[in-house]
Amino acid sequence: MTDAPLAARPPIDKDAIRARYATERSKRLRADGNAQYRRLEGAFARYADDPYTARAERTPVRDHVTFAFVGGGFAGLVTAARLTEAGVGPVRILEKGGDFGGTWYWNRYPGAQCDTASMVYMPLLEETGHMPSEKYAHAPEILAHCRRIGEKFGLYRDALFHTVVTAMTWDDAAKLWRIETDRGDAFTAQFAGMGTGPLHVPKLPGIPGIESFRGHAFHTSRWDYAVTGGDPSGAPMTGLAGKRVGILGTGATSVQCVPHLARDAGELFVFQRTPSSVDVRANAPIDPEWFRGIATPGWQMRWLENFTANQAGGPATEDLVRDGWTDLARRIRERIKVLPPAERTPANMLRAFEDADFEKMEEIRARADTIVGDSETAGKLKAWYRQLCKRPCFHDAYLQAFNRPNTHLIDTDGRGVERVTERGVVVAGREYPLDLLVYASGFEVGTPWESRAGFDPVGRGGLRLSQHWREGMRTKHGVHAHGFPNAFFVQPTQGANLISNAPHNLVDSARTIALIVRTALDRKVREVEVTAEAEDAWVALLLTGFGRMIGGQDCTPGYYNNEGQEPGPAAKLHVGYPAGAYAYFKYIAGWREAGTFDGLAFR
Ligand code: NDP
Repeated sequence: MTDAPLAARPPIDKDAIRARYATERSKRLRADGNAQYRRLEGAFARYADDPYTARAERTPVRDHVTFAFVGGGFAGLVTAARLTEAGVGPVRILEKGGDFGGTWYWNRYPGAQCDTASMVYMPLLEETGHMPSEKYAHAPEILAHCRRIGEKFGLYRDALFHTVVTAMTWDDAAKLWRIETDRGDAFTAQFAGMGTGPLHVPKLPGIPGIESFRGHAFHTSRWDYAVTGGDPSGAPMTGLAGKRVGILGTGATSVQCVPHLARDAGELFVFQRTPSSVDVRANAPIDPEWFRGIATPGWQMRWLENFTANQAGGPATEDLVRDGWTDLARRIRERIKVLPPAERTPANMLRAFEDADFEKMEEIRARADTIVGDSETAGKLKAWYRQLCKRPCFHDAYLQAFNRPNTHLIDTDGRGVERVTERGVVVAGREYPLDLLVYASGFEVGTPWESRAGFDPVGRGGLRLSQHWREGMRTKHGVHAHGFPNAFFVQPTQGANLISNAPHNLVDSARTIALIVRTALDRKVREVEVTAEAEDAWVALLLTGFGRMIGGQDCTPGYYNNEGQEPGPAAKLHVGYPAGAYAYFKYIAGWREAGTFDGLAFR
């Protein structure tokens, strides 16, 4: 982070950087885009098994609940909590994992922690009375917090774990949803919610020979501690002593687990296609005395609003979180502030954004030189793209790991791993024999919603969600879709779309949904649905905005930009409220307070 005045900062050769960005991007562009990846199916089905909880047999349910929610991660937990607070029940959460937690159920790799400050990232802290132990809490604490929410709001009683929804159909005569699962369940619900998460289907790279590897292998979201030893809290992985370990991928997951693998493996080989931008993390324990001082009623909402104001266009006089996320936003703001009001045009705003980004990325690249002893390795760890082209990373031990003599960066110069053999991994014709290969290869993005969710909701008159969203997502507030009465989506797109703190979107939608359901029950109506006109108007409003602020077709390929491929018409609807996230939260609070539920029909 820099506090130097704008005029005192070194000049940047923007043309040279743009040229380098374009060169690096072109090395990575490939015609197969998303098709380069494999699902954990067929020959790879065993990679999908749950290593954490044994599956218990149970009798299928055949009953009726007031609210069914698909997904037991943050979205399901906060929605169910708010519904319970509003006296709505029973609420049944259906979850494919063996417990609550969603992404935090599956991602137990060593070093996993939140990248957004716990004070704003962990939902319902005030309601549950929990003080995060660190500025960025580690995964076991976040998973325990999910369980805490489940306990506190009595959500375990009706939850169904290790259960995958296979069908969800609106029965227009009975005015309820009929839900079926892979466990033989067939029950009804007056209302339904869907919060399946953006990154929940793990993927493997489609590298030739991948099925032939004879050593141990797993995806990071299915960490096999029986092989490695250790545990999710970071205990030494004694099973790796003297072993040759490879990790494929250098995204946000790899950045967090490489330091642990480097510490415990005999030799570690990090196979890199594109380096991540790795900025300062500066994690620290939270001081209970300080916390007691600030945790006065309404504290978490104040922190959420402050973080969003700093990030997304609000009045920010102080920065409570002060981290890498708010730093980029601060740099953009200070550039806009010096412009006379008449020059605050969209083009100048975009220029301010670009200039701030160039400056930030130069600092992040310089950080690699400062930390990594070997200059060639440091050079290969530098990210040549704009910061929001890929998920920004923050870590204080990742770059440092490459100073260890047992840790080897195997850079593929943008081409990716060439082949996997029975013995190991081949890059540039050289085979690296391995005992264990960890796939930090990420999750499916950019495929249709129903393909990732595993079911295609059928609304009124047999309308499938895939048909309704054929040309892209259509909703009001990202929550309601016309033709799908009594159903609610809990996700950021077409709402605030605040990517730096995804839970804020979910916590806010939960509030809206609980209010609507409570009102529908109080009014004794059987149906609540967004009107076609209101949905059309919302979609039209979304299209008046700047478009997407992350990714972009000039970015290096990745899941932020559909792997660099033309994203099709749906992408233009993958946006948020045009005035920004801060304005959205203000708008929707006003919509709730008005009590008129504009755009919704209660019947
Ligand atoms: P990513 O999709 O970000 O990374 C996958 C990695 O695998 C990339 O480095 C990719 O390279 C590499 N890869 C894919 N195919 C090949 C190949 N053939 N050869 C070599 N390398 C290959 O997945 P992650 O699991 O790291 O992260 C996914 C998302 O999950 C993050 O972006 C973030 O949103 C979230 N996350 C959040 C965390 C947090 O908040 N604490 C922590 C971890 C993840 P390339 O870049 O070239 O495609």
